[in-house]
Amino acid sequence: MHFDAIIIGGGAAGLFCAIEAGKLGRRVLVIERNAQVGRKVIISGGGRCNFTNLNVTAENFVSQNPHFCKSALARYTPQDFIDLVRKHKITFYEKKLGQLFCRESSLQIVEMLLAECRAAKVEIRTACSVEKVESRQNFVVTTSDGEFESPQLIIATGGSSFPKIGATDIGYRIASQFGLDVVRTRPSLVPLVFSGEGFRELAGISIDAFVTAGGKSFRENILFTHRGMSGPAILQASNYWDPDSPVSIDLLPETDARELLYRHRTDRKRLDNLLAEYLPAKAAERLFNADGSAKALFQMSEREIEIAVEKLDNWQVRFRETEGYDKAEVTLGGVSTGELSSKTLEAKKVPGLYFIGEVVDVTGWLGGYNFQWAWSSASAAAQSL
Ligand SMILES: Cc1cc2nc3c(=O)[nH]c(=O)nc-3n(C[C@H](O)[C@H](O)[C@H](O)COP(=O)(O)OP(=O)(O)OC[C@H]3O[C@@H](n4cnc5c(N)ncnc54)[C@H](O)[C@@H]3O)c2cc1C
Repeated sequence: MHFDAIIIGGGAAGLFCAIEAGKLGRRVLVIERNAQVGRKVIISGGGRCNFTNLNVTAENFVSQNPHFCKSALARYTPQDFIDLVRKHKITFYEKKLGQLFCRESSLQIVEMLLAECRAAKVEIRTACSVEKVESRQNFVVTTSDGEFESPQLIIATGGSSFPKIGATDIGYRIASQFGLDVVRTRPSLVPLVFSGEGFRELAGISIDAFVTAGGKSFRENILFTHRGMSGPAILQASNYWDPDSPVSIDLLPETDARELLYRHRTDRKRLDNLLAEYLPAKAAERLFNADGSAKALFQMSEREIEIAVEKLDNWQVRFRETEGYDKAEVTLGGVSTGELSSKTLEAKKVPGLYFIGEVVDVTGWLGGYNFQWAWSSASAAAQSL
């Protein structure tokens, strides 16, 4: 059997690349190790797949080269994907901040991709695991089902997160095998674990906060967990988190903390009781009266007031590690963008070898950006096959 291109990985990027290449008349084979394609799509967005974001810019991605994603994102836009979703009569809604979710089920996105694959005559082999790749005359892919050969090979094997649904590091290994640089990988869009003693008794409590890490700030909820913190603001910050630096949390993003405390400077009530009007009471007590020795506001010295203001405005929280790939939505790092053409995603040193989707060192924010990168990078590669 002859194929113009073999795509390893039947996830978002692999399927979409196959569709776009198939529409251009290429004979394409997709190889997927799971029995079912698109398993990450199915579990994404809490089962509703946040398939894109209305406000996609290069600013929403982390990469050693922040400009790399621009070309692909400009050529296949969120509107292009929305048009496809509409063509398939999938109803969707904007949840918040431009995030588009299926109204019914993420399965509809997989069904849409499979219908498009059928129309583009894409061949898909599931339950077929790639074991190794060699470059002879063509690329030779050894799988659990035997060998396949083609002049062009697209690596769409995703990142290492959620290994229980099929993620492997084979994409990074293939890059290294061909002498391509891989930017150090780590779990991201992931809950963080406190250094030292935590706030176990606050597990389950969420607070609207302004979280800053690595110079980027996010205004969304933080959520205390048994070991650390989660919630959208912390997941977003995890993309920028440096283990050696604390994360800054503004607990009262809507309120001027200094003005509030000085306005109540002569009150007979305790600080934690005042703050219970602005924060969940349990959090106010644990964070501002942990040992039960909090004074009434009128008894607090100016220095004590200032310490409280600092903690409200700029609470410095140290995290020791992430909750790991089992809980991470994505993998930060990946195949270095310096090794790839931003126009075609082809490896500069290895003609015919492409890397698309999450395996590349382009990581989006939470909110549909990672799928948009999968669609856009897949489309960019497909145009040049
Ligand atoms: C719980 C969760 C929720 C998420 N929700 C969202 C969301 O709502 N919106 C959003 O934008 N992003 C979301 N993401 C991130 C998003 O799912 C990924 O960024 C996206 O799926 C990446 O697409 P990909 O095609 O590059 O990789 P994947 O979708 O991971 O596909 C890679 C495929 O390669 C296959 N594969 C791996 N190794 C081999 C091998 N050796 N042989 C054959 N096949 C192999 C895998 O089985 C997999 O099917 C979520 C992630 C998780 C884990």
